[in-house]
Amino acid sequence: MEGRYDYNRIARLWPDILRQRPFKMWRYRELLPLRRDDYQITMGEGGTTLMRANNLGMMLGAPNLFIKDERQNPTNSFKDRQAAMVISMMKEAGITELIVASTGNVAISYSAYSAHAGIKLWSFLPSLVPPEKMREIAIYGSEVVKVTATYDVTKKVAAQFADHRGILVDRGIRNTGTRESMKTIAFEVAEQLAAELGPPQPGVPWRTPDWYIQAVSGGMGPIGFWKGYEELYQMGLVNRLPKLALIQADGCAPMTNAFRKGLPHSEDVSDPSTRVITIATGAPGPAYDHLYDIMKEHGGVFESVSDEEAFRALHVMAKMEGLSIEPAAAVAFAGLFKLLNMGVINRNETVIVCCSGHTFPVEKFLLEEDWLKVLPASAETLAPVVPETPPPAPPSQAGLLGALDQLDQRVQQIMIVEDNPEAARLLRRILQTHGEFQIGEAHTGKEGLDMIRATRPDLILLDLMMPDMDGFAVIDNLKADPKLRDIPVIVITAKELNLKDRERLQGQIQMLLQKGAFMDEDLLQEIGALLGKNDEEK
Ligand SMILES: *Cc1c(COP(=O)(O)O)cnc(C)c1O
Repeated sequence: MEGRYDYNRIARLWPDILRQRPFKMWRYRELLPLRRDDYQITMGEGGTTLMRANNLGMMLGAPNLFIKDERQNPTNSFKDRQAAMVISMMKEAGITELIVASTGNVAISYSAYSAHAGIKLWSFLPSLVPPEKMREIAIYGSEVVKVTATYDVTKKVAAQFADHRGILVDRGIRNTGTRESMKTIAFEVAEQLAAELGPPQPGVPWRTPDWYIQAVSGGMGPIGFWKGYEELYQMGLVNRLPKLALIQADGCAPMTNAFRKGLPHSEDVSDPSTRVITIATGAPGPAYDHLYDIMKEHGGVFESVSDEEAFRALHVMAKMEGLSIEPAAAVAFAGLFKLLNMGVINRNETVIVCCSGHTFPVEKFLLEEDWLKVLPASAETLAPVVPETPPPAPPSQAGLLGALDQLDQRVQQIMIVEDNPEAARLLRRILQTHGEFQIGEAHTGKEGLDMIRATRPDLILLDLMMPDMDGFAVIDNLKADPKLRDIPVIVITAKELNLKDRERLQGQIQMLLQKGAFMDEDLLQEIGALLGKNDEEK
């Protein structure tokens, strides 16, 4: 079933009615295939930022670059639009159990939305999906089935299982809801670009970019995006259509390879060889044929990039624009760099890059070897000289001091200010078992303040009830001192706080923990976040 809509009516309705609706995916509900609004499953999907890439633009000499930041969706990829739409339609149809095959992000997104909707989900994943993504899927209560095969084989296994068990399997691109949901990216971009650059001509409210760039796998994103612009064009809300630039990884480029040869059907890849698993669809089927037809008629291009180019782009985006993106999203940016270099995209054109997903910090291979500063000193450098053995050459003064300097840089200092020695010991123990911290300990407020002034720790764990100077007074002193006021403070207290106490702490501290009512993980997590440490990496 293809979505059928009354475009004339909607074209008249939208300009006024949209002004009253929140900037979220469902504001476009007249052009989405859910019959009844009360079946909407929503977690805040869509309405993502369109950001001008100023630094990148300066670097590339391309002033009209915009990033559609789809990481801002509830599970951090643009699959949430699809999940919100499809799961809502399932709910409307009374379906209670569903199977999906995925390279990771669809399963994460469907799992979250299924949990929200009370639908049981089975996720079939190729074994190369990072274990962290698999755990993310499992935490939502989905059944996780790892198939030791490519994604294309995994899809077949899922379909067989569905058949065998009599459970519905998600039809992906062949599902109306999937394609229709992705139109909302086009609708948003059209509105957002008009807000940025003004309407293109009198009487035409919204705007079309010259290019939409996306990393492509199954093709739902661009097919939906294109359909969205076609509808806007038909309704007279924009005055032209964009061009698509779709990027694949060299190691799995069935669409790009076919396009380069001018073939109307994809050149399937049976043994993908790329680390960018998210977009490793080897057999895209009719999605390619459709995109090929669009490009024949309206221009546009398929391109591919190496994994190395993608990883480099990933670092550039993080360091130049502050966007931590997943390798699949980085493929789109690497494609942008390449197409600008090739002159396919003109540097003055208006370009939207779809930043399709957030990285998982756990994808360790993304960091260069030297991201962690490791102390170069060997055991002998620091150990006392043992008389019986021939003395090792004494380390040069500079070497040892250098080593100690680095040690100081790496080990972070935490000051515990707590009058109860038992409580202090517990805190020290929690810290010691979970990392290398330099821990100072003071047993009165006054002593604590003196030690903080002398050592300037990275973090303070503070009790409130202490003789002489209490915790509130310690905080007041810290905040009055420009050198100390930025040190984060975690208050750990046995005192029942009243409203006035809470107001005094408001905005002054990073976290409040009740003694005897917090887990060490709570504390460690907060400490980890405050110190910017990542437990996984040790
Ligand atoms: C799914 C996905 C893609 C590719 O999507 P298409 O279905 O080909 O449009 C790109 N990036 C991320 C992060 C994805 O999750």
